[in-house]
Amino acid sequence: HARRIEGIDKNIWVEFTHLAAEYKVVNLGQGFPDFPPPTFIQEAFGRAVSGDYAMHQYTRAFGHPPLVKILAKFFGRIIGRDVDPMEDFLITVGAYQALFCAFQALVDEGDEVIIIEPFFDCYYPMVKMAGGTAVYVPLRPRGICDQAQSVRSSADWVLSPEELASKFTPRTKAIVINTPNNPLGKVFQKEELQVIADLCVKHDVICISDEVYEWLTYDGNKHVKMASVSGMWERTVTIGSAGKSFSATGWKVGWAMAPAHIMKHLKTVHQNSVYHTATAAQEAVAMGFQREYDKFGTEDSYFVQLPSMLHAKRLRLAQCLESVGLQTIVPQGGYFMITDISSLKVDLNDPSTEGEPYDYRFVKWLIKEKGLATIPVSAFYSPEHRAGFENYIRFCFAKEDSTLNAAEDILRQWS
Ligand code: PMP
Ligand code: GLN
Repeated sequence: HARRIEGIDKNIWVEFTHLAAEYKVVNLGQGFPDFPPPTFIQEAFGRAVSGDYAMHQYTRAFGHPPLVKILAKFFGRIIGRDVDPMEDFLITVGAYQALFCAFQALVDEGDEVIIIEPFFDCYYPMVKMAGGTAVYVPLRPRGICDQAQSVRSSADWVLSPEELASKFTPRTKAIVINTPNNPLGKVFQKEELQVIADLCVKHDVICISDEVYEWLTYDGNKHVKMASVSGMWERTVTIGSAGKSFSATGWKVGWAMAPAHIMKHLKTVHQNSVYHTATAAQEAVAMGFQREYDKFGTEDSYFVQLPSMLHAKRLRLAQCLESVGLQTIVPQGGYFMITDISSLKVDLNDPSTEGEPYDYRFVKWLIKEKGLATIPVSAFYSPEHRAGFENYIRFCFAKEDSTLNAAEDILRQWS
């Protein structure tokens, strides 16, 4: 095998999705909604594969024209600049492939890439496959000593500007940010982004900004696009996902948006590997964005309805976890919530998981003994920093109320 794939053969999603299927659990693990996408986009997909206008053949390599046109209009309006549909967009096989194209196109042997912990796990293997070196900087919980305040928020997890600055070297090529963050739910505020932006400008570094949960913010938190921060359009690759936007993760339509001088390199990777994403899925997503463009900010908009639906589910899950004595970190955005399991004294006693991090062992025990699937949070840390974060597990709350009820029953019976 090639050296570039050494040490990255284990994958949290492969492992835990398999386990969850094997034990027929209540699944709050892998991040996908178990409710259907909105009817308008299901119908659009139906039209794209049937009748006179069906789209069964190849389309343009870098993105189906109706889709890149509406995305450019849509995001151009949000960031307040003219975005060129043909030059500044690439449609990919999910956000995953957009990330892969970005790392392959921009990172060389010996380059350093700064990753903010906790991070969506694929950033590290992708940096490694490109020949780069990952340099980590942690979000740290601000010390809250007030015992009465048992509920913390993802807003309490912050970067130290000094520590961040110390990670930039002449070899730094890029920094990856993820807002709203998976798994923590942190939504970076404008001022926090500005600190990162200033360092990117100062050191001439590219920002890869993973914004797949951009519509999902709660309690008045606002998602700010890094590309809209001053000085950042020229150096930002913004990653998005139709799977997350329209609750259709299996469609695997994602995109990258970046200025032409950066985007042309991502296109080189794409044209020589995947070439293009399924035409009909792109057509349906184009119809979806056209509708959302017309209804933007109104109560008919799915991008307004989805967060309001998830807001209620998030409160419910937080209340349930708190009521059984689990301290949760209430997310400002996204569809995950993490909880501290250190107060639960469980006799794991499973020789098959001996030697694994505590949270991995706990999650496996929870799947096998209680029929509830979650994800261990140390999977979102580098091996070097994992040790301090073995006491958290992640729940996905983008689930039907019946699924959340079933999870609640399990938690209440056992506590
Ligand atoms: N980035 C983050 C932060 C994610 O959570 C995910 C998983 N949905 C992805 C990227 C990949 O998205 P997609 O399913 O569109 O490939
Ligand atoms: N992004 C999703 C999550 O965080 C799932 C990713 C995957 O299954 N590969 O749960």
